[in-house]
Amino acid sequence: MKSKNRFELDPERLATTDEEGHRVYLFPEDVKGFWKDRRTVFYWFLILVYLVLPWIYIKGKPSIMLNIFTREFTFMGFTLHGVEPILLFLVVISAMFFIAFMTSLFGRVWCGWGCPQTVFITTIFSKIESFIEGSARERKALSDAPWSFHKLSKRIQKWFIFTIISLHIGHTFVGYFVGPRELLHMSLHSPTENFGLFLAVMILSGIFLFDFGWFREQFCIIACPYGRMQSVLMDSNSLVVAYDKKRGEPRRGLAPRENEGDCINCYACVKVCPTGIDIRRGTQLECIACTNCIDACDEIMEKVNKPHGLIRYSSEEELNGNKTKHFTPRSIIYLCICLTFIGSFFLFLSLSTDLSFVYMRGTTPFTMTKNAEGKNIILNNFLVKISHQGEKNHRINFQIHDKNLANKIEIITPMKPLKLTQAEVKATMFFKFDPSILINGSRTIKMDILEELENNKVISNTEVVLVGPAQ
Ligand code: SF4
Ligand code: SF4
Repeated sequence: MKSKNRFELDPERLATTDEEGHRVYLFPEDVKGFWKDRRTVFYWFLILVYLVLPWIYIKGKPSIMLNIFTREFTFMGFTLHGVEPILLFLVVISAMFFIAFMTSLFGRVWCGWGCPQTVFITTIFSKIESFIEGSARERKALSDAPWSFHKLSKRIQKWFIFTIISLHIGHTFVGYFVGPRELLHMSLHSPTENFGLFLAVMILSGIFLFDFGWFREQFCIIACPYGRMQSVLMDSNSLVVAYDKKRGEPRRGLAPRENEGDCINCYACVKVCPTGIDIRRGTQLECIACTNCIDACDEIMEKVNKPHGLIRYSSEEELNGNKTKHFTPRSIIYLCICLTFIGSFFLFLSLSTDLSFVYMRGTTPFTMTKNAEGKNIILNNFLVKISHQGEKNHRINFQIHDKNLANKIEIITPMKPLKLTQAEVKATMFFKFDPSILINGSRTIKMDILEELENNKVISNTEVVLVGPAQ
C-alpha cells in the first residue's frame, strides 16, 4: 500500500532507508519545551566538561589525563602512576555494568542525555546547520535542489565550520591521553616531529567530522553496540519514552470523531525525531530517548486543550495500569556486578603499590679494576627499570641489607636519592665490591630501599646477582 505522506512510515523498513535500501537523509524539525530546555542546559555543561576539562591544570597537572605512554592517570590533582591494563579493564567493565544498571532503570538515558554523539550533534552541529541552511523545510529544499552557486556556498560555509570544530574535538580527545602541554608542543611544531600523534589527531578529527556532520543517526541505528544491546538490558519496568496507546487511540482518522482518542495524528512527534521513527508504534531500537517527541506532542496537546503526557517517560507496566517496580532482580544484579568490579579495582590498586625492579646486566658481565689502595675490586653495571604504582612520588636510596657486606660493596646511582616521579624510571647502577664476597663467582645481594621523604624508612627491598671471575 502506498504511504499517505512522507511521515507515514512503511512498517517494513527503517525510516532512514528507501525501497532500494539507500539512505534517506533526515531533516528533523526544531523543538521547544520542558525537556528541551533541561537537555540544553545539561548538554552545555557536558560540552564544557568534554572540551575544557583536559585543558585545565590543577596542582600543575591536567585535571584529567590518561597518559598512555607513561601509564599515568591524573584526575583533579591526584595522580596514579603505573596504571596496569587490569586496572583499565576494571574501570571499563565497571562503567559498562553501571550503564547496564542505569539502562535497566531508565532505558536509553545515556543516549539521550550523555552520549557525546547526541550532545555535539544537537547542541553544535545541528545548530550551525540551521543557522546556515535554515529550518528543516529549507534544509530539505536545499538538499533536493540542483547544485548552484547558492547551494555550493552554503555547503562550503557549513563544512568549513564543521571541520574547525571537529579539529578542536579531535585535539581535545587526544589531549585526554597525552596532556595539553604535549599537544600544544606538537601543534606548534612540524607534523614530521610527532607524526604518530599528528596522524591520530587527523584521523580522529576526520571520524568526528564524518559522524557528527553526515553519518549521524546512522551510527545510533546500525553501528552503536550499546544500541543493539539495550533490548536485553531493559524490561517492562524500565523507564522509557513511550506513547500512551490507551489514551491516544484510536487516533484521528481511524474512528468517528466522538470515539477517537487524544492523538490527532499530526505527525509532530515524527517530524522532530532525529532517528525518524514513529514512537506510536511502541519502543523501538532506533529510539535514543532524546525526548523531542514528548515536547512536540505536549505542544500539540496544549493547542487542542488536552493534558500533557500523551507521550511521556513511562514504563510498559505503568502504561498497562500496573505499578512500576523501580528495582528489579535484573537491575540489582547489574548493580552488584558493577560494585564487585569497582571493589576489585580498589583491591588491585592497594595490592600493587610496591616498587618493582628489573636489572638488565651491561654487555660486559664484570670488569676488574683496582681501588686507591691498589686492591683488586670488581665492577658490575646494570640498567635498572624501576616501576611504581599509586599516587606518591618517591626519592629512594639503596642500602645493603647484610651489615657484614655493607662495607665491602659500594652502590653508585646517577643521583642520590633517585627520584621516581613517573610510573617507570630507568637508571644506570654500578656495584663496586671486594672479590671476597663472591661464592663460586657470584653472590645474590639483598638491598633495602630507603624512602628519603620518610626519614630514610625502609619501604621495600630488592635483590641483585653480582658476578666476578670463578675462583
Ligand atoms: S522516538 Fe522520541 S525520544 Fe525516541 S528518538 Fe524519536 S524523538 Fe527521540
Ligand atoms: S505529536 Fe502527539 S498528537 Fe501528534 S501524532 Fe504524535 S502522538 Fe499524535
